[in-house]
Amino acid sequence: MSLFSPDRYVASVDRIDLDDLWRRDKRAILLDRDNTLVPRDRATAPEEVAAWLDRARAMGFRLCMVSNNWHRDEVMRSARELGLEAISHAMKPAPFALAAGLKRTGVRKAEAVMVGDQLYTDVWAGNLAGIDTILVKPQTTVDLWYTQIFRIFERRALRGLTCEE
Ligand SMILES: [Mg+2]
Repeated sequence: MSLFSPDRYVASVDRIDLDDLWRRDKRAILLDRDNTLVPRDRATAPEEVAAWLDRARAMGFRLCMVSNNWHRDEVMRSARELGLEAISHAMKPAPFALAAGLKRTGVRKAEAVMVGDQLYTDVWAGNLAGIDTILVKPQTTVDLWYTQIFRIFERRALRGLTCEE
């Protein structure tokens, strides 16, 4: 499998089937922040995302945000609001922050899944760390300028991959 292939491709984070993850022995969910949980053009997560996280927590999943965002205060504020552990300055695709996420959540690689909206940060990092990945569609089309460049290659790479709605 390519380092740039997600295990699943789902329309949005709140559409990810938590019962299915649990059945597949997943116990921790590592989550990207920007455009996965919190839209780039907003400060807070949509209600349905918060509700999905609440349900995951109630089921017993360990949750940890792993964000590349350089604004540590923003990352920590979102994490607090959403009741998540958090690691900022993750430098994905480097796999170290995901390893830290495993430590933080106390699970083995096989029990974790990385969820994010970018192939060249989130999915690549997950594959390098040996963690299953779920790619979601970005919540908005607003992106940092360099992310927009990667989106061009991403669109090409995702051609032919069906998204679960
Ligand atoms: Mg993102």
